[in-house]
Amino acid sequence: MNIIYIQIGSNMGNRISYIERSMQEIEQEIGEVICSSKIYESSPWGVTNQNNFLNSVIKVQTKYSAEIVLKKLQAIEKKLGRVRKEKWGERKIDIDILFFNSEIINTENLKVPHPYIQDRRFVLVPLSEIAINYNHPVLQKDIFTLFKECTDTEKVYEYAI
Ligand code: ADP
Ligand code: MG
Repeated sequence: MNIIYIQIGSNMGNRISYIERSMQEIEQEIGEVICSSKIYESSPWGVTNQNNFLNSVIKVQTKYSAEIVLKKLQAIEKKLGRVRKEKWGERKIDIDILFFNSEIINTENLKVPHPYIQDRRFVLVPLSEIAINYNHPVLQKDIFTLFKECTDTEKVYEYAI
């Protein structure tokens, strides 16, 4: 069995519903959701003219390889995002693999650990909640240390449902 950390983000439409439906699909298609962080709200990273994002990180146990998980996640994004994608011309759901066991994967389609984890508070805040002791296999530092050292100043709030 493989342990993966997955980030789910949404900034359009019914954001909570997109995140919850993603989790249900992940549970059905990929494997058991062992735990999930709270949902956090933050401004979109790098752009100013978009809605705020909601983000959550989940820990999932799966029998599938990283490549298969990526394909399945993309199918889920497509299934949940497609209707609004045509109407709004934007994507409503972003699902990224943060970690896959302690593996380092560097193919054209898949970079694991996700390259920007250490730079983004909106990733580190939820990740700290469920994986504070996880050791980043490339940086060789745990999440606690990466969080402490992160210079991103973006505000990340717990979202009250
Ligand atoms: P972003 O997540 O950067 O906003 P997309 O969700 O559109 O952008 O993803 C673009 C591409 O990123 C995908 O086609 C996928 O192959 C690639 N990718 C590379 N590493 C990962 C990862 N760890 N998790 C998810 N997608 C990844
Ligand atoms: Mg993505």
